[in-house]
Amino acid sequence: MNSNDFSGLPLPPEVLANLKSLGYETMTPIQAGSLPAVLEGKDVKAQAKTGSGKTAAFGIGLLQGLDTRLYQTQSLVVCPTRELADQVSKALRQLARPFANVKILTLCGGKPMGPQLASLDHPPHVVVGTPGRLLKHCQKGSLKLDQLRTLVLDEADRMLDMGFLDDINALIAFTPDQRQTLLYSATYPQEILAISNQVQKNPVEITVESLH
Ligand code: ADP
Ligand code: MG
Repeated sequence: MNSNDFSGLPLPPEVLANLKSLGYETMTPIQAGSLPAVLEGKDVKAQAKTGSGKTAAFGIGLLQGLDTRLYQTQSLVVCPTRELADQVSKALRQLARPFANVKILTLCGGKPMGPQLASLDHPPHVVVGTPGRLLKHCQKGSLKLDQLRTLVLDEADRMLDMGFLDDINALIAFTPDQRQTLLYSATYPQEILAISNQVQKNPVEITVESLH
């Protein structure tokens, strides 16, 4: 067995079979470097370029940690743009196939509030969205994050570039202190290190160097 095979991870057979059906045979370097720590519930600070497989690196882990019998939002993935949030939701839905009844909801700005509010009547297990709209739902009380277990800041560098720092900090204030925080970014400027220090606890650090 190759040490980068998914089968070396503590994952149920049906999850491994689903990964195979998606064409995921071996872990990408960022997955091999971060997924074991994610599955152990640790905070992770990971840097790898676009296209390196970061979604599954956090997605497989956060799905594994869900208790789908509880109708509470247990995982939140914050993304810089609607397009990226849609991509992450789509990937999570594929990865969630072996799990019965996982509800994944996308909440992005630029969309009408009405349908989002209706969807939140029954809390989703996983929410994916953009900072401003997620914060708005928290402030209205339509999105409850008090039972959150895992927070993912995806493409953190882009979120900072887009001026979302205040929204992200305000959003984090709605989450429990006892949570797993995963930070994935293509680059690690000083501002990201500062956020990591603020919101993460003893994060495992993984950097996958670009080949170029
Ligand atoms: P990133 O977030 O790092 O930009 P993505 O998570 O969007 O990258 O993944 C890029 C592409 O690689 C996607 O099409 C995804 O389905 C594919 N992919 C991810 N992990 C694997 C894997 N282990 N084996 C094969 N393909 C993978
Ligand atoms: Mg990504």
